[in-house]
Amino acid sequence: MVSHGRQGGSREVGGFLLGGYHVHRNSPYLDLQVAVPALKARGEGISLTFDNEVMREFHAEKAERYPNLLVLGWYHTHPHHSVFLSEHDVFIHQSFFNAPHHVAVVVDPYKPRYERVGVFLWEEGHLSQGYHLILYTEDQR
Ligand SMILES: [Zn+2]
Repeated sequence: MVSHGRQGGSREVGGFLLGGYHVHRNSPYLDLQVAVPALKARGEGISLTFDNEVMREFHAEKAERYPNLLVLGWYHTHPHHSVFLSEHDVFIHQSFFNAPHHVAVVVDPYKPRYERVGVFLWEEGHLSQGYHLILYTEDQR
């Protein structure tokens, strides 16, 4: 996600998250395994647009390459403008990722490592930033 973000320069880029959804000692957790770039999503400065065509293309790719993984949500970048969900982001999440286990990951690829990633999830019908997060990342300076 970080390297996809840096390839975008100051433009927003994004994609989809796939993996597994599990329960351990009554606590649900997500195992994000694959980030699939959405190459046709349009990034214009501060907002990234996912439309029905982007979704159709993603579902076709997922069926072909990752039939056994669950769709866990989406990610996008906020180059240089930090980690939060805009109103537009919330709209996208409500429109396309409204299952209880769906998350939105926001990445600012230019922030120091520990401020770079935010994970937002559904809690009782509202989107809030997750707090139990374990990141396994490749070393990115
Ligand atoms: Zn955003």
